[in-house]
Amino acid sequence: MTKTIIETEKLCKSFSSGGIQQHVLKNLDIRLFEGDFTIIMGSSGSGKSTLLYALSGMDQPTLGRIDFAGKNLVKLNNDQLAVFRRKHCGFVFQQIYLLDNMSVLDNVLASGLLVNKNKRELVKESKELLLQVGIHENSWSKFPTQLSGGEAQRVGIVRALINRPKVLFADEPTGALNSAASKRVLDVITNVHDNGQSIVVVTHDIQTALRGNRILYLRDGVICGDLQLGAYCESENDERHEKLKHFLAEMG
Ligand code: ADP
Ligand code: MG
Repeated sequence: MTKTIIETEKLCKSFSSGGIQQHVLKNLDIRLFEGDFTIIMGSSGSGKSTLLYALSGMDQPTLGRIDFAGKNLVKLNNDQLAVFRRKHCGFVFQQIYLLDNMSVLDNVLASGLLVNKNKRELVKESKELLLQVGIHENSWSKFPTQLSGGEAQRVGIVRALINRPKVLFADEPTGALNSAASKRVLDVITNVHDNGQSIVVVTHDIQTALRGNRILYLRDGVICGDLQLGAYCESENDERHEKLKHFLAEMG
């Protein structure tokens, strides 16, 4: 039986500005499963990033419960939440956010050292992971500004994976990349998923969405569609594409 990795109950998030409350997430009951590659889609402003931040403990919800691998995140104070997040959540962002004054390798190490790993072991794992995503030794001492966007994002993925998170989260990971770089990044993420990693990705890009096995559609803070797409398989991509297009047309 598939194990639940994250479960929310009546998850709500509101923002107030100028005395006006904006209800962005509305009573969401969501269950995500271990080993799944879940995609969250929805139009701009529908609350996708807000949902991702809540699921990953980056931001506390206004109301509700988030059970993450048996821990209720809502009960943690900010310090406890930060520790939990560093240990169990990996993040990839559209803007990547590597530290420009540190080398590629140091960017990865810095993230690993935050959770008190053994340095020698960490260096070995960092190099292995960099090689796995196609970042070779001649790039390890480069600075982020010397990398292409796609290379930088692959380093971003390594940094997110270095602490072996329970879930890898990504918000529009290919949003700033051209299609060749984007495909390479998606191949890396797909490979990571094939090795058993649970993944949650927010995207509005069809090619990215096609890599997932389940699509949740968010409209105005409510999940209004849940499509089982089945595991990614390049040779069946035309059928998967049809199925996704049909689903998105229904979502409107
Ligand atoms: P999406 O990622 O689907 O485009 P977001 O989750 O970023 O949408 O935003 C959903 C809504 O919540 C938007 O109207 C946005 O302005 C609002 N919002 C998001 N974050 C904040 C914040 N920190 N403060 C105030 N409003 C916010
Ligand atoms: Mg967003």
